[in-house]
Parts: sequence; C-alpha cells; structure tokens
Amino acid sequence: MTLHAAYDPDNIFAKILRGDMPSLKVFEDDVALAFMDVFPQSDGHTLVIPKGIEARNFLDMPADRLGSYMLRVQRVAKAVEWGLKPDGLRVMQFNGTPAGQTVFHLHFHIIPIWESREMGRHGTGTMARPDELAPIAAKIRAAI
Ligand code: 5GP
Repeated sequence: MTLHAAYDPDNIFAKILRGDMPSLKVFEDDVALAFMDVFPQSDGHTLVIPKGIEARNFLDMPADRLGSYMLRVQRVAKAVEWGLKPDGLRVMQFNGTPAGQTVFHLHFHIIPIWESREMGRHGTGTMARPDELAPIAAKIRAAI
C-alpha cells in the first residue's frame, strides 16, 4: 500500500470502531479509542486510533484534529506506564507498507519495555488469547 490511496472503510480498525469486530478496550471518548493489540510485542501493547475521521496514516490527519488525538495518545501512554510500571515505553507509528504499516487506519503503538524481558518483533508473533489480555487491560483501564 502506498502512502496515498483511498481510505478503505472495511479495514480492521474501522470494523472495530463500528463494533463489527471485537476488541479489548482500555479507553474511549469522542476523539479516540484505545485497545489491546492482539499480536502484542510485549505485555500491554496498546493501540490508540482516532475516531470519526478517515485517516490512513499520520500525513492524512487534518491538522485541526491532531492535537486532541495526540493528547489521548499521551493519556493512554501514561496509563500504560502507571498501570504496568515498565522500565521504558516505546511510542511508534508507521506510514505505508514499506515503513511497516499493515492496518490502514491511523494508529499509535504504545509498547511497554522491561529490561529483563525479550520484546517481540513488529508484524510477527502469535495471537494473544482474550483471557491473557484481559487482566493487563484492566490494569491500564484502572490507571486512566
Ligand atoms: P501496523 O503494522 O499497521 O503499524 O500495526 C497494526 C497492528 O494491529 C499490529 O501491531 C497488529 O498486531 C495489530 N492487529 C492486527 N489485527 C488486529 C486485530 O484484529 N485486532 C487487534 N486488536 N489488533 C490487530
């Protein structure tokens, strides 16, 4: 997928936003939705997506909607840190297939890092079960 293409309303995250696909949510308001990544690179890998906007990537995001969205990204990042107490935190975002993007609705990854634990690689890994993700999601939700 190139950087410049039409927004596909049937992408996975659009389906999650419509409630057509399940997700384990940790935060939602009128600006953004945050939920657990089902192929987590570490325990607590969370995605934050904008609502009510057809933005495939960071470049598509209208400037007047960016600030409110980024405030939610930071809020969720702080909750991941407060809730899970990692040693570090990666906040990542990919634009276009060559850059590693696989789902074409804008999203930021929030990935907690522990010095003693190995981290998975982007786009690999096994699907986590809901019962594995639920207690982690509960800790993040409680910290928001
Ligand atoms: P990207 O590769 O576009 O930067 O990130 C997409 C992310 O979405 C990946 O980390 C991938 O694990 C995650 N993902 C893919 N399909 C699903 C899904 O159906 N549900 C959830 N919660 N995450 C998904």
